[in-house]
Amino acid sequence: MKDKTVIVTGGAKGIGKAIALKFASEGANIVLNYRSTSPEEVKNEIEDMGVKCLTVQADVSNTEEAQKLVDEAIAEFGGVDVLVNNAGITRDILLMRMKEEDFDAVINTNLKGCFNMMKAVNKIMMKQRSGAIINMSSVIGLAGNIGQVNYAASKAGVLGMTYSVAKELAARNITCNAIAPGMIATDMTEVLSDKVKEQILEGIPLKRFGQPEEIAETALFLAKSKYITGQVITVDGGMVIGR
Ligand code: NDP
Repeated sequence: MKDKTVIVTGGAKGIGKAIALKFASEGANIVLNYRSTSPEEVKNEIEDMGVKCLTVQADVSNTEEAQKLVDEAIAEFGGVDVLVNNAGITRDILLMRMKEEDFDAVINTNLKGCFNMMKAVNKIMMKQRSGAIINMSSVIGLAGNIGQVNYAASKAGVLGMTYSVAKELAARNITCNAIAPGMIATDMTEVLSDKVKEQILEGIPLKRFGQPEEIAETALFLAKSKYITGQVITVDGGMVIGR
């Protein structure tokens, strides 16, 4: 990864932060996207590793802002080697109470945001005749979940886009893969009640939540793999296969 340029969306905390730090530790320069969380702490940690870090505020669900993020990355580093589409939100509620805004907000960030970013890097990666795209899906996109109709739709959609982009861009030596994490200890899962967490734990054969670093390891593996494309790697302690 030395001297490669890696864009991580939603990189100021959680899984995105772990991914940014992991790639930086391998010598990559990082374009750290954030929306509302201050990126300064992560930027300092990255620069302490002797690589560069460009922070760019952008809402990936906004087409112009996503394009601006990629344009700034190219202006600073001259290209984009790896795109990690990590930014995501939840708005969990039962279907009968789910409002149109809840559905749209999750689709716009998780699915359209991923589309916007892939479209924005498409030209430069085609020109380079190289690149790796890693999209964050979820086990919920594979199996569905009560109270997550919007989130499941967005994450299943990410998989469909991943397979299609993998086919479209393979001729230009660009790979596109997805990761489907299970329950990872971040702010996103911290909001769940202890009771819900215990219920989820019961369904995880490895009997623990995953750590953001474990997703980062998988992202790095996929970015380095030159002959894996159109795949989804589930990193879930066995959650999907069940007990
Ligand atoms: P967090 O809530 O900790 O972090 C989410 C990140 O996404 C934040 O950095 C946030 O930025 C960013 N973000 C949200 N909306 C936007 C937007 N419109 N534009 C740019 N950035 C945005 O979640 P996790 O780290 O847990 O999740 C990371 C990814 O992994 C998500 O896609 C999530 O769906 C997925 N995932 C997580 C699982 C888990 O168990 N934690 C399981 C399966 C998948 P900011 O704070 O600046 O607003």
